[in-house]
Amino acid sequence: MKYIIVLGDGMADEPLAELGGKTPLEAAGTPVMDRLAREGRVGRFVTVPAGFHPGSEVANMTVLGYDVTTSFEGRGVLEAASMGVDVPEGYMAMRCNLITVSDGKIKNHSGGHISTEEASQLIADLGKELGDDVVTFYPGVSYRHLMLIKNGDKRVTCTPPHDVPGTPFADVMVKADVAEAEPTAELINNLILKSQKFLAGHPVNLKRQAEGKDPANSIWPWSPGYRPLMKPLSEKFPVKDGVVISAVDLIFGIGAYAGLRRIDVEGATGLYDTNYEGKAEAAIDALRNGADFVFLHVEASDEAGHEGDIELKKRTIEYLDKRILSPIVEASESFGEPLAIAVLPDHPTPCRLRTHTSEPVPFLIYKPGMTPDDVTSFSERSASQGAYGTVSGDEFMNLLMK
Ligand SMILES: [Zn+2]
Repeated sequence: MKYIIVLGDGMADEPLAELGGKTPLEAAGTPVMDRLAREGRVGRFVTVPAGFHPGSEVANMTVLGYDVTTSFEGRGVLEAASMGVDVPEGYMAMRCNLITVSDGKIKNHSGGHISTEEASQLIADLGKELGDDVVTFYPGVSYRHLMLIKNGDKRVTCTPPHDVPGTPFADVMVKADVAEAEPTAELINNLILKSQKFLAGHPVNLKRQAEGKDPANSIWPWSPGYRPLMKPLSEKFPVKDGVVISAVDLIFGIGAYAGLRRIDVEGATGLYDTNYEGKAEAAIDALRNGADFVFLHVEASDEAGHEGDIELKKRTIEYLDKRILSPIVEASESFGEPLAIAVLPDHPTPCRLRTHTSEPVPFLIYKPGMTPDDVTSFSERSASQGAYGTVSGDEFMNLLMK
């Protein structure tokens, strides 16, 4: 048996008056998902354990069977893995944004969506100015970078800058949760202040301001954590050659710790204009050429949910069905072994709320020859009638892979 998980990020939603009381998943034309549900079995999945923020990182780790209560270490280390940066024992990794501060307030979390080229220069120069044998900076993409602190203590409260636009930055600086973490909090806060002094006069920022753009004039480190205790999937499940297909660093980072080979697809943007056909083709190629496990992640529905665009969300779900699932199902005869297929979102991103929620998500599992349950379509509502009931933890992976 070979296995594929097709994950539509944020695909689950609520019944909407605009869709005659249907959810986008119910309203969308999804003949392939419905057929897989009819010939397979469905259920609901608690992907965000109680007490966790419903972030994609938490939900996707749970989908792959990891216990986030013991292995979740924040975004920094996941993005580090995606960037190929090994976080050694004894080091703390943090996501390090380049942000724009204006009149003492956080104007945006993205340094005015600074280009990767400009940001790389800033991060390199920050490294020379502020880096030493304790603090190291690594350049990422656009405003998203990485900072490692030797012997950092992760018991500090940091504020994600995208949550606090318009807030005075001094009000949301790093706070120690315990006395032992005070040196770490002080170190990071000093770095923020020093970065502001240094970046204010940097030629890259002077040029941006002359062009009427926001300067990237402060670092903003957050989401601290240590190297996570994540074992490769192959230690627990029958995976010899697993691959991950996505456009999102976090997902590639989870994949790296899971021991999955990364496939980058040209034109995979993470937006609704993503290269669906390219992702399907990459999965088909991998499964034809030895891969026995594929985690295929599509971000588009989540973006539509964040935009509150109901029609767009419906369309992204139809694209997932027609342009990803349909060609994969069609090609599945040529993989040399039967193909088990799972389809699910990581978490809901309801259009009405425009943010993630922790509600259980619907999932379907289809394995050739299995005895189906009575459910004949795939949706939030139909999933609650499924044979699998409501699962949590690593139960979904066990159902699919064991
Ligand atoms: Zn997500």
